[in-house]
Amino acid sequence: MRLLLDCGMYQGPRAEEDEFNQWVPVDDVKQIDAVILSHGHLDHCGKLPVLISAGYTGPIYCTPATAEVARIVLEDSAEIQEENADYLNNRARDPSAPKVKPLYTRKDVHDVLKQIRRVKYGEKTMILSRDGKEGPNFTFFDAGHILGSAYVWLETLDNGKPRTLLFTADIGRYNTPILRDPQTLPGAANWVITESTYGNKQHGDIAAVEPQLLDAVKTCIANRSRLLIPSFAVGRTQTVLWYMEKFINEKLIPRIGVYVDSPMGVEVSRVTCEHTDNYDEQSRAMIAATGSFCSSLVTFASSTQQSKQINNDNGPCVIIASSPTCEFGRILHHLTHSVENPKDMIVFVGWIPPRTLGRRLQDGEKRVRILDRWYDVRCQVRTIHGLSAHADGDELLRFLGPTLKPQTQAFVVHGEVDQAEGFARRLLAAGIGGATVPAIDTSFFTSADGPVPPSGTSPTKTDND
Ligand SMILES: [Zn+2]
Repeated sequence: MRLLLDCGMYQGPRAEEDEFNQWVPVDDVKQIDAVILSHGHLDHCGKLPVLISAGYTGPIYCTPATAEVARIVLEDSAEIQEENADYLNNRARDPSAPKVKPLYTRKDVHDVLKQIRRVKYGEKTMILSRDGKEGPNFTFFDAGHILGSAYVWLETLDNGKPRTLLFTADIGRYNTPILRDPQTLPGAANWVITESTYGNKQHGDIAAVEPQLLDAVKTCIANRSRLLIPSFAVGRTQTVLWYMEKFINEKLIPRIGVYVDSPMGVEVSRVTCEHTDNYDEQSRAMIAATGSFCSSLVTFASSTQQSKQINNDNGPCVIIASSPTCEFGRILHHLTHSVENPKDMIVFVGWIPPRTLGRRLQDGEKRVRILDRWYDVRCQVRTIHGLSAHADGDELLRFLGPTLKPQTQAFVVHGEVDQAEGFARRLLAAGIGGATVPAIDTSFFTSADGPVPPSGTSPTKTDND
């Protein structure tokens, strides 16, 4: 039986991106029996259309909320692929040059959606092989990372002995708004494939986020100015919205204009509203008390026209728009209106990758180029840490606590070298039987007595959010 755990897109420098994302082992694809999808982030689901185009015809298992999030993310990704190909073809000087094809199109995404099978949290599901034989069982548990996210608990028989494999995918933080905490592991696993995005780091305190955000909003209210929050459309936008509605509902601030200006942010917010069964108790209590979340307190701008209308609001108001890097998306137009105004403020809600406009602003550069013009940066710029969607090293160890046992062998993936290797060392110090950072394209074999230690040492490719 062959299972694929996630099928994500690599995001990085263009040449590397093309190489990784176009590569598919076609012969192997036809032998895959099932795909298990942990959540809807692009680096976990983004290559599914490529897999289907290469001939995969089996089921793609995911939670109901992930099915919705993955649809929105994949459709957006297909649109970007098509636009990029159009742009490159229009720019080509030689009309006889071969046309650039998009990696995939919206039609390919439609084909992916037909193969999705929705499985609820906690529902043990047997996987059938392509020829109908009974295979291992898997169960989704809440990973607390984004809406619908799951870690996977796989149970199988290995030479008659029961064996378990835990695939953490991405694990969220504890005590974050909206989402539940990562669910406690059902027990110790024989094998663990764990993420390590921030495995060797410590995040800021989540409790510090609320007063920092409130102070920023109050400053803009006092100045009658605009507060811009460049944000990821999936997850972070909804978290910031949750705080805004809380501030208004608890009368910590008066009712002011709050805008979500991103078509994908609007859609994911709508899906978030529909999946209240995924919320933690505090968020459910908030809805019960106020009857609202993603409510009339917020203006959602899907169309370009709605986006332009936001410019008529000179403040006080809060505008949440993608993208956090400020390299593309609607945030750019809002920046051109605010960046030279000393009363306006930009608040970054997380780490911004280097060599991007967002990072230059975050680092305090005094003159920046936005779209086609240079601007002096006169507005205030702040950063609020602590809103990461990923557990840090301590939180990952807390989550893996029940399986930090001598019989467990861990494979540490989804992290830069220093994070993955640092976290592997922490796992060993905490008493796990073995911890390896596998190289790309490495195979592992087990014997009846347990896993055979592998030999790779370089990390897998990943990206952060
Ligand atoms: Zn993720």
